[in-house]
Amino acid sequence: MRVLVIGSGGREHALCWSIAASPLLTKLWCAPGNPGIAQVAECVPIGAMDFPALVAFAQDNEIDLVVPGPEAPLVAGISDAMEAGGIPCIGPSRAAAQLEGSKAFTKQLCDDASIPTAQWERFDEPDAAREFVRRRGAPLVVKADGLAAGKGVVVAETEVEALAAIDAMMQARTFGEAGASVVIEECLLGEEVSLFALCDGNTALFLGAAQDHKRVGEGETGPNTGGMGAYSPTPSFPPALQDAAMDGIIRPALAEMARRGTPFRGILYAGLMLTADGAKLIEFNARFGDPECQALLPRLMSDLLPALQAAYDGELRNFDLRWNGEASIVVVMAARGYPEAAERGSEIRGLDRAAASPNVQIFHAGTEADAQGHIRAAGGRVLNICATGADIRAAHAAAYAAISKIDWPEGFCRHDIAWRALAR
Ligand code: AMP
Repeated sequence: MRVLVIGSGGREHALCWSIAASPLLTKLWCAPGNPGIAQVAECVPIGAMDFPALVAFAQDNEIDLVVPGPEAPLVAGISDAMEAGGIPCIGPSRAAAQLEGSKAFTKQLCDDASIPTAQWERFDEPDAAREFVRRRGAPLVVKADGLAAGKGVVVAETEVEALAAIDAMMQARTFGEAGASVVIEECLLGEEVSLFALCDGNTALFLGAAQDHKRVGEGETGPNTGGMGAYSPTPSFPPALQDAAMDGIIRPALAEMARRGTPFRGILYAGLMLTADGAKLIEFNARFGDPECQALLPRLMSDLLPALQAAYDGELRNFDLRWNGEASIVVVMAARGYPEAAERGSEIRGLDRAAASPNVQIFHAGTEADAQGHIRAAGGRVLNICATGADIRAAHAAAYAAISKIDWPEGFCRHDIAWRALAR
């Protein structure tokens, strides 16, 4: 198979690493990729949103399967563009990617399919939103309806914060058109976990569960980030609860999407809150999580490529995926200043030595190679240090032992990734 992965982060490096191990693979490309991905795939300098160039490349190179990593091209319709060009693409159509592209769409779907979620209301007028906040009182969660790079959600402890969020989203348009409408929700209490499913339109196959760490600082402090680390499995979300969430959340969503004529094909990611009344949906995403993907794929024993192909073909019914019983962890190394203003350009040394550590995989997220071939920071989240072990303690120790071999004074990481599991 000739495969094209789209994206340039740690998630796409992990996908490429996994696909590269498949005996079914003839050749792997990644657009645009990064220096880490270049070790396992041929990188093509085409941006993830340049659909005409991506389709032309896929046609010219007779690509058998396109695998988009990030949400932006999916929500903008990369799968439709590829299909129109005669190229198979395992990712939801633009219509199905609305599960990630619009909060109100997902909330309505939850109501239609009886999926447990926070009570909610949608507002197109700031006055009505403000009036609702005054009537209901805090705490409340205010969400920009559209895509806002993970930043369009404010968990407001007070009425003042909720009103400020409405002003910022609906009036100042901090997130542009994404804030034209807002969803205001009941605030759920509990532990958050992520559940992943590979979907073929009708059938959903469990693709792992993980817990991530969104805050930049240790002890869950400081601003939100794209994710500073993750681990799997999650002791607070045991297999019985995972099965219940597959049956009560993922499968009803898939059935409702099919019933509406917009079947979901690809990776469905459910962000869940484990509340006192069971798991409730916080959000759906239309792709693998980053960095959860990097923690999950090292535990997958089955070949990922035929699973992706079967999802594309609508043949997951008779498919099975095997996972090893190990624990895994991913620690994100970020450039100083992240998430506000990450410093670019600093040199990272010692990567080969660190990558040679036992049970360790290093994925590149935001790196570039300079003219001399030195690896430099080129983004906020820069490296993903992944490790597996017999239990979470062993995986944790292996990851941080590898990190200690990386010589990058301008980078930092959290040292408490997986603390909930370690505390048990
Ligand atoms: P979202 O983009 O919808 O995943 O929201 C981002 C983060 O906001 C989530 O990971 C939660 O930590 C928090 N959040 C979102 N909705 C709620 C809710 N209804 N109750 C409590 N926390 C929430």
